Amino acid sequence: MPLTEAALSFSDVPLGVINAPEPTTNAEAGLGSLGRHQWAWQKYQDGCANHWMPQEINMAADIALWNDPKGLTEDERRIVKRNLGFFSTADSLAANNIVLGTYRHITSPECRRYLLRQAFEEALHTHAYQYIIESLSLDEGEIFNMYNEIPSIHDKAAFLLPFIQTLTDPTFKTGTPENDQRLLRSLIAFACIMEGLFFYVGFVQILALGRRNKMVGAAEQYQYILRDESMHLNFGVDLINQIKQENPHLWTPEFRAEIRSLMEQAVELEYRYAIDTMPRGVLGLNAEMFSEYLRYIANRRCAQIGLDEPYPGAGNPFPWMSELIDLKKEKNFFETRVTEYQTGGALSWD
Ligand code: FE
Repeated sequence: MPLTEAALSFSDVPLGVINAPEPTTNAEAGLGSLGRHQWAWQKYQDGCANHWMPQEINMAADIALWNDPKGLTEDERRIVKRNLGFFSTADSLAANNIVLGTYRHITSPECRRYLLRQAFEEALHTHAYQYIIESLSLDEGEIFNMYNEIPSIHDKAAFLLPFIQTLTDPTFKTGTPENDQRLLRSLIAFACIMEGLFFYVGFVQILALGRRNKMVGAAEQYQYILRDESMHLNFGVDLINQIKQENPHLWTPEFRAEIRSLMEQAVELEYRYAIDTMPRGVLGLNAEMFSEYLRYIANRRCAQIGLDEPYPGAGNPFPWMSELIDLKKEKNFFETRVTEYQTGGALSWD
């Protein structure tokens, strides 16, 4: 049978996001226009169109400011260092979670291709933190050890670990309602809580520095990371909703109550991180504003996966954040780059 015919016949089989027969080749799996999960293929293309590299961002202004004893307050320096400590740990966990865990359990070829792109982006993010740490000549040991030494950072990572360990456990297999629920629970913890909530105090803090013309290189990198992460979150939400749609028996009232309780614990942990990183008001921000903001974010995450909002009426004290997520609308926010960063579509072969 010719390869294309094989692909066509394979794609006629109703394939789920999980628990489908393991495809051995891309042709068999019916990638691209033959695949069933076109939303994931589109996200892969969008991710590639947003490609960026950390070392292309100029850090000279950041280095001068950091080395000027009067350039930043102690509270501002604390924000920079603690966020590098948290994010470098979190994005390493994210990479392991995808490569050693999620990828094995998701059988949709289109979703797997997006996951490969996402895994590379997690590498870019740890690359970016490393680049900032080296540019500022920070003590790597101090930054990378914060996971062990700073309780507010340790507690967020410790909350996530059991969910990641479920997926990376070599003996774990989907295929029973109980294990499919374990997968779904871990995907929600990873996308909606880790990428969708635990990153947001740090994003607001670093971008607030950039808005005040401080640490503009680091802020620009965090802006690209925020854009990538919002796409990871949106992919995760679509994946979760696709699994729900294909497996409605997993979405029981008990399961929904459990997810809601996890979300409430996560809001509490992230609020403690806000207090720890901002013992006083700084950059026009204070921990109390984050109490409201985190409830607002948690409401959005719950609504995105079809759960009732846990904190009705919570408002958004940082409406400027949504402008920063969409770089196309708000081009070159920190004015460190001349043109919008897009690659791929402009190549010409004449
Ligand atoms: Fe991510």
